[in-house]
Amino acid sequence: MKIALIAHDRKKELIVKLATAYQDILSQHELFATGTTGQRIIEATGLPVHRYKSGPLGGDQQIGAMISEDAMDMVIFLRDPLAAQPHEPDVNALIRLSDVYEIPLATNIGTAEILIRGLQAGLADFRTIVHETDNRPLSL
Ligand code: PGA
Repeated sequence: MKIALIAHDRKKELIVKLATAYQDILSQHELFATGTTGQRIIEATGLPVHRYKSGPLGGDQQIGAMISEDAMDMVIFLRDPLAAQPHEPDVNALIRLSDVYEIPLATNIGTAEILIRGLQAGLADFRTIVHETDNRPLSL
């Protein structure tokens, strides 16, 4: 599965902890991240992560483009709900595209843990079938 990892500045420590705790699971998948988040994860875990541009410089949009190409299977986006972001439109666009393409999306650590554990349990396997059909989850 292709997994995007993104965290706003005050959530970066948290995403590093998440990536460290679930390193064994994440290592079985293809990881993508915005620039700084990816750098922090690589430094902490050594996991191979494809880094896009930093979020405020277009990284969120690059990941959004992947979603629109059906080239992303899960998004973990630890956003900061207590701070205004200069690239708020890009943040909203990424979340919107995840919904348009029915991509499992976590915007906080609680859901992120459930998604990663679900990944390990095979609950995201419908994505493989989605790739082969019409871009819709099985349940629809
Ligand atoms: P960053 O971008 O990982 O480059 O900090 C994340 C964001 O703010 O969208």
